[in-house]
Amino acid sequence: MTGSEKKPRIGVLAIQGDYAAHAEALADSGADPVEVRNPDGLDGLDGLILPGGESTTMLKFLERRGFFEALEKFAAGKPVFGTCAGAILLAREVRHPAQRSLRALDAVVERNAYGRQIDSKILIAPTSLPGGPLEMVFIRAPRIAETGPGVEVLARREGFPVLVRQGKLMAATFHPELSADRRVHRLFVDTVIASTQK
Ligand code: GLN
Repeated sequence: MTGSEKKPRIGVLAIQGDYAAHAEALADSGADPVEVRNPDGLDGLDGLILPGGESTTMLKFLERRGFFEALEKFAAGKPVFGTCAGAILLAREVRHPAQRSLRALDAVVERNAYGRQIDSKILIAPTSLPGGPLEMVFIRAPRIAETGPGVEVLARREGFPVLVRQGKLMAATFHPELSADRRVHRLFVDTVIASTQK
C-alpha cells in the first residue's frame, strides 16, 4: 500500500470480547478500524473482524434487531475474519454443543474442544505464512474438526487446523490480536485491500 491510497475501513464487532485489541492490531496493520455495535454499523465497511469472547453471548445479542441476518449478508460478499468465538460464529456447523452460526466458512467447529484445564495455552507453532513460526494464544479454544475442499490451512495444532482461509474469509482458533506479531492481521488487511480493488 502506498501512502496516497485510502486505508481500508475494517469493522470489529464490539458487542463483547476483546475487540479493542483487534482494533489496535488493525491500526498497526494499515487499516482504519471501526467498532460495530449494530447492523447499520456495517454500512460502508470493506471488511469485518468477529473477535473472541463467548459465542453464545454474542449470538444472543445478534439475534435481536436483524443483526444476525445483516451479518449473514455481509459475510456472503465481503471479507470477514473470525477469531476464536468469531470462528465459531463463522462456521458452517458448530458442535459441542450445536448452536446457530453464519454458515459462511466451510468448516465444522467444536467448541471448548481442548478440555477445561489445558485449553488456554501459548504455543509457538509452524505456519505457512512467510516469516517463520508464529506465537498462538489459545483461550478456551474451539477446534476446527473438518474443513471443505475450498479451505486452505495456514497453521495446525496437534494436526487440527488453527488458521484457515477460504477466499475472502479467514478464521483462527487462537487470538492473534494478543501477540505482538502482526502477520495474521496484515494478511487479513491485504485480503480486504485485494477485494476492494476488484
Ligand atoms: N469458548 C468460547 C466459545 O465457545 C470461545 C473462547 C474465545 O473466544 N476465547 O464461544
